[in-house]
Amino acid sequence: MKCTVCKGPAVIDVRRHNANFCAEHFLRLCRDQVARAIKDFDMLGRSDRVLVAVSGGKDSLAVWDILLGLGYQVDGLYVGLGIGDYSDSSGGFARAFATERGLHLVEVDLPTDHGFDIPTGARAAKRVPCSACGLSKRHLFDEAARSGGYDVVATGHNLDDEAAVLFGNVLHWQADYLGRQLPVLPARHGFPKKVKPLVRLGEREMAAYCVLRGIDYIVEECPMAAGNKHLGYKEALNAIEAQSPGSKHDFYFGFLDRGSHRFTPDAEVEQRDLGPCERCGVPTTGEVCAFCKLVARATAVPVELGRRT
Ligand code: SF4
Ligand SMILES: [Zn+2]
Ligand SMILES: [Zn+2]
Repeated sequence: MKCTVCKGPAVIDVRRHNANFCAEHFLRLCRDQVARAIKDFDMLGRSDRVLVAVSGGKDSLAVWDILLGLGYQVDGLYVGLGIGDYSDSSGGFARAFATERGLHLVEVDLPTDHGFDIPTGARAAKRVPCSACGLSKRHLFDEAARSGGYDVVATGHNLDDEAAVLFGNVLHWQADYLGRQLPVLPARHGFPKKVKPLVRLGEREMAAYCVLRGIDYIVEECPMAAGNKHLGYKEALNAIEAQSPGSKHDFYFGFLDRGSHRFTPDAEVEQRDLGPCERCGVPTTGEVCAFCKLVARATAVPVELGRRT
């Protein structure tokens, strides 16, 4: 197998591009794809202070590494979710990455700072863990970006993630979610701008990027993910991609080009009704935001104990 660019020995094939790459040209491809996503979607400016949400996994550490390589000013944010050994271990990878490279890592810990962990919060709120986790992370990313004066929050969502979310949203015709499923969400209502610079790169490519760059990441999956719908959608799309390389890319980018704007009015209906949460002040559709409701449920002492706070 030869590198399509230099004809030297290739280390990876990317069927979507019908091409093989040596280490040097594969790393260049990854950087070029991120640079292109940033340019095409107007994600980042040179003077922006960027906070990248890192989980200790391959995607978020890779996006931090690539953005630094492209010359952006980027700090990391690690949110401890209290998911047992998994959180201890993932935090260790995020800290080691930052320490070895002399980078600044902001840390927030859900159990220490808000008094509950994801398994407890999910049980108390009768939500599936990933739903409690997702809303907590969104809130904590916003809060950390605002208090640290960052302009943009970047996340490591890759093409596989975005195609799977789109698949789920289409399957259930979640019109408001479809209207908001963009690689860039502009800053508004006090929320920082959100960007997904890895949308042009797949999961397998990010794992290869980390190996080639010597980035140690947590390989183990979050134990809460087992059986969630998102994984099922990914498997379904992987089966389609194996038959027809490039399908995920066409599905997602075809939606952005031709479908997304049709759902903008659905997303805007919700945006119009936003007011400040009476507990924390973030914009919300109700009186109290979803995160403050989750905190209240997760930290309430059961009435039968007679010590309700
Ligand atoms: S798999 Fe679910 S619970 Fe685990 S980190 Fe991801 S969103 Fe959170
Ligand atoms: Zn090459
Ligand atoms: Zn709130």
